[in-house]
Amino acid sequence: MKKIYLDNASTTPIKSEVLDIMTETLKLYIGNPSSLHQFGRKIRSIIEECRIKIANILGVYPSEIVFTSGGTESNNFILCSAVKYLNIKRIITSKLEHISVLNTIKELSFFKKTKIEFLKLKKNGVIDLEDLNRKLYNNSNDTLVCLMYANNEIGNIIDIENLINICIKYKVLLHSDLVQGIGYYNFNMSTFPLDFFSASAHKFYGPKGIGIAFIKKNLKLGSIIKGGNQEYGRRAGTENISGIVGLTKALELSYNYLSNNRKYLEYIKSYCISSLQKNFPKIFFNGLSHDMNNSIYTILSISLPKKDKFLSFKLDLRGIAISQGSACMGLNSHVIKSLYSKDIIKKKSILRISFGVFNKIEDIDYLILSLKYILEKYE
Ligand code: PLP
Repeated sequence: MKKIYLDNASTTPIKSEVLDIMTETLKLYIGNPSSLHQFGRKIRSIIEECRIKIANILGVYPSEIVFTSGGTESNNFILCSAVKYLNIKRIITSKLEHISVLNTIKELSFFKKTKIEFLKLKKNGVIDLEDLNRKLYNNSNDTLVCLMYANNEIGNIIDIENLINICIKYKVLLHSDLVQGIGYYNFNMSTFPLDFFSASAHKFYGPKGIGIAFIKKNLKLGSIIKGGNQEYGRRAGTENISGIVGLTKALELSYNYLSNNRKYLEYIKSYCISSLQKNFPKIFFNGLSHDMNNSIYTILSISLPKKDKFLSFKLDLRGIAISQGSACMGLNSHVIKSLYSKDIIKKKSILRISFGVFNKIEDIDYLILSLKYILEKYE
């Protein structure tokens, strides 16, 4: 049976160069980086070299990088620690954020009485930054703004320059979940001055279970996980050495080949859009997902005007891996619920097709063929 992977927004396959360097690290280096002997010191120097390489790519100081277990932990850490150590009393965000943000702020509002405000959404899930302006104009005290760069379900990209300018104007802190964007866009913090961001290696062909939290130098966050003094007191626990080495290699590869990969993925996405339109004239694209200038080039979210609750399972039976929403939310997408009424959702089959560098045009042809076969009675 064919095996076609079109779920790269959930996770990407690890690259062989990444796997090789991780295996070598696991085989060669046995020490604990907190130990003072030669074995420990060797591992410590490897970690610090990785931190410098990452910092150079992202235009930050090495000390601003904290290694975590991934995007979920980075979002938890930044939000909880900002409330605890920076005295943040109010978080402005949107209902389209990843569940690791939404569930964290729900807890913060319950246990810490942090005030949570959601921004209005415009047509197609566009975040209303005028609403942010209004909210900050009235009160910008003790506020953190938390808005993702690229939405993981519908692919919408936020107007980050405008967002940054608003936050600078009102002197509020800005955290952006860059989990879908790092490895795909040139984020240099000298041109995109964020206060915090999160990233995750398995979204850019690195290993699972390792990520980054970026904390701007002047902001002193403490660890939420209690234990040793690792990561300069910001994240306790023995470091995931092979993960750190793998993340660094994956990040280097992503940025070395960024423009070629981008061209290739844009070509695949455009081909997918036009083939879908040709074969399913009544297809509808969710959010800004088919707008090549305002959506990430790896994600295409579609609505087919015929309900088949088991569409992704049927595709799976034909060898195609694809999500109906995000991997974490399954069929219960809060993003889709924020965009459409229950009645509309009942009548549509929603799929998130997400592309990766290992995909080929033939994968798209097979997907279209399979969709036509499954939705046979499609008029
Ligand atoms: N944020 C976004 C936008 C994501 O897409 C994901 C993963 O799907 C996460 C956070 C969580 O990242 P991780 O899987 O590394 O915990």
